[in-house]
Amino acid sequence: MNLILLGPPGSGKGTQAKFIEESYNLKQLSTGELFRNAVKEKTALGHHIQQYMNNGHLVPDEITLDVVLDTIKRLKESAGFIFDGFPRTIVQAQSLYERGIEIQLVINFIIDLSRIEDRLARRRICFSCKREYNIKYQPPKELNICDRCKGELIVRKDDAPNIIKKRIADYQGLTHKLIAYYREKQILKDIDADLPIEEVRLEIKNILDPLVREKK
Ligand code: AMP
Repeated sequence: MNLILLGPPGSGKGTQAKFIEESYNLKQLSTGELFRNAVKEKTALGHHIQQYMNNGHLVPDEITLDVVLDTIKRLKESAGFIFDGFPRTIVQAQSLYERGIEIQLVINFIIDLSRIEDRLARRRICFSCKREYNIKYQPPKELNICDRCKGELIVRKDDAPNIIKKRIADYQGLTHKLIAYYREKQILKDIDADLPIEEVRLEIKNILDPLVREKK
């Protein structure tokens, strides 16, 4: 089973993807994480996409698709993927479809956009294991130290206020169109991503459990 987590930046997709990965036999494929790793490791790809990312622009579709298809090929033994932050444009969604990569479910994270800036400004991410925290709602036990791996918590460059505005605008202009695209295919389920993490987790579990049972 392949599923897509759709929603604006800061709606909690990454956090919930990690939970789904641990509870169901699915592999998280976060394009943002793949791109950040490429930048960190200074690969040719990283060099090329750095400017897009630092300015809060979307990476061009062709590059994004190459990275996604390559990752799918590498991890093909996986039982299925949780696409986190992908697709973000209609072109990306259509490419999945044209390549026969079937999507069984799209979970649409609904959140009041006025709350996003606030959420992203408080986001911290573990430099090592990538676990996410919110310094107000989900703080680490020790200041700036990851509970899980003791790595250092950092602020993402693109979580700066002026860049956040650009990312939200791209969501509204481009990614939001995917809601209608997948609703028409009748595979989209809405969840209230404004709820506390545990409640969002439960909403997702209530959607996924019956589907997983059906598959058995
Ligand atoms: P994210 O971690 O999902 O917020 O992604 C961080 C950044 O990576 C985005 O602001 C974009 O610059 C880039 N990115 C991630 N996923 C995509 C995608 N599907 N298409 C284009 N750019 C992306």
